[in-house]
This record gives sequence, structure tokens and C-alpha cells, in this order.
Amino acid sequence: MLPASFHPASVPAARERGLAILGSTGSIGTQTLEIATLFPERLQVRALAAGSNGALLAEQARQYRPDVVCLADETGYAALKESLAGTGVRVLAGVDALAEIAMLDTVDVVVAAIVGAAGLRPTLVAVEAGKTVALANKETLVMAGALVQRLAREHGATLLPVDSEHSAIFQCLVGEDPTAIEMLTLTASGGPFRARPADTFSTITRAEALAHPNWSMGAKITIDSATLMNKGLEVIEAHWLFGLPPEQIEVLVHPQSIIHSLVTFRDGSTKAQLGVPDMKVPIQYALTYPDRWSAPHDRIDWSALRCLDFEAPDLERFPSLGLAFEALRQGGTAPAVLNAANEAAVALFLNEQIGFADIPELIEDALGQRTAEDGDSLEALIAVDQEARRLVHNRVAVRA
Ligand code: NDP
Ligand code: MG
Repeated sequence: MLPASFHPASVPAARERGLAILGSTGSIGTQTLEIATLFPERLQVRALAAGSNGALLAEQARQYRPDVVCLADETGYAALKESLAGTGVRVLAGVDALAEIAMLDTVDVVVAAIVGAAGLRPTLVAVEAGKTVALANKETLVMAGALVQRLAREHGATLLPVDSEHSAIFQCLVGEDPTAIEMLTLTASGGPFRARPADTFSTITRAEALAHPNWSMGAKITIDSATLMNKGLEVIEAHWLFGLPPEQIEVLVHPQSIIHSLVTFRDGSTKAQLGVPDMKVPIQYALTYPDRWSAPHDRIDWSALRCLDFEAPDLERFPSLGLAFEALRQGGTAPAVLNAANEAAVALFLNEQIGFADIPELIEDALGQRTAEDGDSLEALIAVDQEARRLVHNRVAVRA
């Protein structure tokens, strides 16, 4: 069964919507604002929040005139306050204020676009406030899928996927009986190293890993795409969004990123959702669902499209994908360990303190050392997250 909170019938028809964009200065956040620009009458930007980029947040606030802005990093408060003096925009700072933004009365849709585990707490607050959550922050579901779904049921919140694969599946499922699903097929571009020989992985540089062939995204998800951990996190995300076990979720490499994902039904029929690789399309669908609003996003030029290629993922060169499936099968806090170890390892790689091939090794090591009792309270999950990060840092310190 699809979780009740995700059933197509549970969202009211589109009307004017108040938006809070958590992570407004990032790749998803700025593209969400581009969509708000297209529909100034129907999408009202009520609140914006960022981590530490106060300069861009101030610029956005001057353009979109939200009621309130929030910077998670309190050290930037004074400068932000000064730069917005006289605008009437309320300025907040600190992680507790992020939560305040997620539950504002004037907000209907909270766009959860903070990167990583930092997005968990404000997203949970939005769910507890019964908001519609346009969810880009997949780490929230990987860490705390059971908790999020339980709270969404209790508080009548609706989760709408922003991730292109999950949006594709969601679009394929509108009007379908969820019990008729046989298989979800998540497509993956394969990232920049799809054809790179395994024996050269140890020499992969930060710049090479940040050069994604099809998508322009934040640094963390770009590295996740290069290791295929992004697809692993998406498998876990799909499990929680669509309520299916790992045996009914598969990954297919499709280098052109035109087919965003597929659903096969028990009668042998397969539906797919296609489009040019542009996150604005799935972001907009999450903001306007169940309607589709006219927009000038690029269309596929069918007469120029020559071929769509597919291949199975190579789990030997990309062990992170297999680790994510394994963590999902183990259940409990294993996905939270996987997520935290991955975030710590990716940050170390971006800092050029470890090599590309070290990332999956560190994650496997952290998963192997998991000792924490299972428990899905926020406090328990944060403790598991911290412990996994510590394991990764200790292991790297020992090696150095
Ligand atoms: P970016 O790195 O581009 O942006 C991250 C955003 O989060 C920025 O606004 C950043 O603020 C903010 N942020 C970072 N740390 C904190 C913190 N501690 N507290 C509050 N805010 C913080 O990431 P993306 O936009 O690429 O990705 C965002 C999420 O969406 C991720 O979970 C990613 O997996 C998911 N996603 C992204 C896609 C994409 O195409 N980019 C596609 C599908 C999913 P600041 O600028 O101040 O640092
Ligand atoms: Mg995706």
C-alpha cells in the first residue's frame, strides 16, 4: 500500500500557496525561486532559510519580500539584519529558528531543500505541523523514514517528492492501484565515471568527481552521484515513499537521463516519465500537484533524439550502491549509519583528505561496527548519526 500521506487523493486542488524554502540559496532552492518567479500570483514566498550564505539570502529577500528569513549560522545574523534594515523582512538565526519557519501559519508548502542530516529536524517540524512537504532532502527519509511516515500519518502531513526519479514514479502512479505495482525501476545517469576502469579510481580528483555529465547540483549530491551512493539513497527514499520492499526496487543505468524512472505493473505493462534533465520540472510538479501549470521549461526534441541506452549498474566499481541496498535490507538504524558515514566521508573527500575509493570503504567499515540499539526517536537517530561520523573520523585519523 502507498502510505496514506502519499496517496494522490489526499492533496487539495491547487490555489494560492504560501511557500517556505529551507535551503533557498542552494541548487534546488534557487530553482524553486525561479518557479516562484513564473507564478507570482499563485506562489507566495513567505519564508526563506539558508545555512551561512547571508549575502545571497539578503539578495533573495530583497527580490521576493518574504515575511521572514533565517540563517542557521548565527554568526551571520548581524550582517543580515543590517542588510535587510528597512525592508520589513523579519530576520532570524540559529537552528531553532529554522524550525519556527517550518511551522509558520502563512506557509502551506515547505520545500525541504537543505542538504544532508541538517535538514532532518526542520523537515520533521514541518511534518508535525501538518504541512505539505515538497521533499528534496532525501537524507531525511534515509535517516528517519519510519519516523517521518508515522508523524505524517498522525499529523495529516503530505510528502511530495522533488527528486526527479521519485517524481517520475509518483507521476506514473497517479490513478493506479498501488497493490498492482510489480517493480520500481530507478534510472541513474551513471555519473562521470560510468566507463572509467576500476584500477584508476584511486587517482580520481575532486574536480573530476564534481564534473557531472548531465546535472548541475550541489557538491555533496554531485559526489554521491559519482559514487552511485545517490542512487542508493534514492532506493531507500523510494522504499519509504512508496512502501515497497528492496526486492521490488531496482536500478538501471541510463546515461542520457531522459527517462526519469519506470513502474512495471503486475499485468506486464510499464509506465515511464520522460523529460529533459531539468530539476525545475519535478520541483514545479511538487508545488502545483495535483495540477499542471503551463511553463516554458525545455521540451524533448523527439526528432533529434537518436537513442536511449541502458545498462546494469556495476556494483564492483560502485560498491556504495550495494551497501545502500544492504543497509535497507538490514533495516533499523543501518540506513542512518550509512547516511552519516557517507556524509562524513564525502566531506573529507571534498576537503581532499581522503581518496575517492576510500568513501565506500569507510561506509562499509561504519556499517560493520554498528552497535547502537534500534530506535527511531529523533534523539536516538541523531546519536546514531554522531557515532557513525565519529567512527569515520577515527578511522581516517588512525590511517594518517
Ligand atoms: P546545495 O549544496 O546546492 O544547497 C544546500 C542548501 O542547504 C543551501 O541553501 C545551504 O545554505 C543549505 N544548508 C547547508 N547546510 C545547512 C545547515 N546546517 N542548516 C541550514 N541550511 C543549510 O544542495 P542541493 O540544492 O543540490 O541539494 C539539496 C537537497 O536536495 C539534498 O538533500 C539533495 O540530495 C537533494 N536533491 C538535489 C538535487 C539537485 O539537482 N541539486 C536533485 C535531487 C535531490 P548555504 O548556501 O548558506 O550553505
Ligand atoms: Mg535523483
